[in-house]
Amino acid sequence: MENNTLKEIGSQLLSANRILLFPHMQIDGDAYGSAVALCLALRNLGKEVYVLLEDEVPAFLSFLTCDFCLEGEPPFDSADIAIAIDCSDVGRFEKRKDWYFKGNVTICLDHHMTTGVFADFNYIDSSAAATGEIIYDLLKVMNCDFNAEIANALYAAITTDTGNFRYSNTTKRTHLIVADLYDTGLDHTKVCVEIYENVRRERVKLSADALKDMQLFCDGSAGLVSVTQKMLEVNHTSMEETEGIIDTLKSIEGIEIAALLKEKEKEIIKVSLRAKSYGNVANIAQKFHGGGHIKAAGCTIHDSLDNAKKMIIGAIEEELMKGSSI
Ligand code: 5GP
Ligand code: MN
Repeated sequence: MENNTLKEIGSQLLSANRILLFPHMQIDGDAYGSAVALCLALRNLGKEVYVLLEDEVPAFLSFLTCDFCLEGEPPFDSADIAIAIDCSDVGRFEKRKDWYFKGNVTICLDHHMTTGVFADFNYIDSSAAATGEIIYDLLKVMNCDFNAEIANALYAAITTDTGNFRYSNTTKRTHLIVADLYDTGLDHTKVCVEIYENVRRERVKLSADALKDMQLFCDGSAGLVSVTQKMLEVNHTSMEETEGIIDTLKSIEGIEIAALLKEKEKEIIKVSLRAKSYGNVANIAQKFHGGGHIKAAGCTIHDSLDNAKKMIIGAIEEELMKGSSI
């Protein structure tokens, strides 16, 4: 697929006035931080910009306040430009897609390797560790002013999608971008405390509850944990508070592929997959109509939790039998 240049996308934005931003559903740090940063920077240029959400912002991101984030109807019927942010396909913003496609011009800014073409203008860079890196580049190309709020939002995007600079998607460029954000007011301690050291004790108990029943297979090179509605109820938590459980599972010595199965409803199982060094979990997610990156991907299975476990274990076994796939 041919990418447009950031210069082309920047000039579209500079000539527009009403702009709507669409971060993906089940919003995460990258989608939200990227959308907030772009919204604030475009607002500073005098544009009328809103971020359209379809779910509540998780507590660990609520410190990034943005007066222009809306749930429900957009404030105008058709935007000059609608931008999908961190969305690999239309299913990632399914409930809001009619508003997106009402935009006179549609743009997709993303870093997933499984992204298909659905917009008029595309900038998809799977070498970017986070969509936040792409937003940084776009704002630079557009000569936008940075400030502390924008820097903190971009840092939130980048730290969350790189596992706080641990995952293999982290590059020299990631660090150079962050280094530059310090010059524009970044407060990395504030962002890290908000995101990583502000965890409700109930959430830690939920994590312990899930991890105590972990299933290890493929001679210990794969692991699976699940979270049911019952476990959420017992621990007074919500599904958004499962963030981090999969990282603990993956951190176990010898584990190459980790899976977290979240029972959203009775037969709606959201699957998160992670690989440590040589596994390719995007392959696995795609078998179940999902997608993502080589080392972090996901999908949804419409079946019982037990059946979903069996299917995922089978697919992981198959993937690990292939050995190194990258
Ligand atoms: P997570 O496991 O944190 O939900 O997602 C890991 C990565 O896979 C993220 O980059 C996310 O955007 C992508 N991803 C998760 N679920 C899905 C899905 O159902 N479809 C697609 N296309 N990507 C997904
Ligand atoms: Mn991302």
